[in-house]
Amino acid sequence: MDIQKVGVIGAGQMGNGIAHVMALAGYDVLLSDVSQQALDNALTIVRGNMARQASRGKIGEDEMEAALARISTTLTLADIGKTDLVIEAATERETIKQAIFEDLQPHLLPHTILTSNTSSISITRLASRTDRPERFMGFHFMNPVPVMQLVELIRGIATDEETFASCKAVVDKLGKTAASAEDFPAFIVNRILMPMINEAVYTLYEGVGNVRSIDESMKLGANHPMGPLELADFIGLDTCLAIMNVLHDGLADTKYRPCPLLTKYVEAGWLGRKTQRGFYDYRGEIPVPTR
Ligand code: NAD
Repeated sequence: MDIQKVGVIGAGQMGNGIAHVMALAGYDVLLSDVSQQALDNALTIVRGNMARQASRGKIGEDEMEAALARISTTLTLADIGKTDLVIEAATERETIKQAIFEDLQPHLLPHTILTSNTSSISITRLASRTDRPERFMGFHFMNPVPVMQLVELIRGIATDEETFASCKAVVDKLGKTAASAEDFPAFIVNRILMPMINEAVYTLYEGVGNVRSIDESMKLGANHPMGPLELADFIGLDTCLAIMNVLHDGLADTKYRPCPLLTKYVEAGWLGRKTQRGFYDYRGEIPVPTR
């Protein structure tokens, strides 16, 4: 299927990154959110990120302006129905995602492919609530989207080959690499990454190390480019907790028990970089550990 127009639902850190790469690859992008503020912020962030790419010579100024002109925004979810490919990138909560797909359904074109950028929620279950489970799949970008090479493509139990091939062609056009994952909780990357982050939080909770020593140990001792707590702040602690809960509930194994300290940070509204405070405090010149 020839995809030209892409609808992105949710203009947070993932939604703006997805709009960025899609527009640069030549797709017309319609970005929606429930918040005008989120849409305005997203456009500012995309412009800033593209300007940085242009200043480094990765894209031309004219390429940047043409890409920005391809992105439009809406607060009306129904508008998204008139696109060829929908990528849902709203908050990681199943009830929110289900409500979005239900509200969108009456407005969809017959050929529209539905996808979710969910990090962990069952694609098969989300698809089963729509009129087109065969044209529904997981389209999982990594953060930050313009930088990270991988996209996980997740087939639900009913996803047909044509849908998979259409999404794979989009990943190819983006110049990214697709990894095919089966539809089990958190797929591949987060099935492995999140328990490590959760274990780092347990290591902090039990006083084995502090924020700085844990991050330094994993950077210098395991050659990770970012420490696990720094990475958790970057992902968003609410998203990390949501993924751990999906692993815990979906695989029914206590080894996925979310650390109570992770829950406490989320309860405090300390969600990481996006709220300026998490395992580090980002309100000053340099990040300062909060424990
Ligand atoms: P975020 O909190 O930055 O943004 C979520 C956005 O969704 C917000 O702007 C919010 O206003 C919007 N939203 C909430 N309800 C909505 C609705 N009903 N309709 C439209 N918009 C709505 O979150 P994020 O980090 O961008 O994550 C979004 C999705 O991407 C989640 O499913 C998450 O699991 C997934 N994801 C996140 C990462 C990461 O590192 N943060 C990586 C890969 C995938």
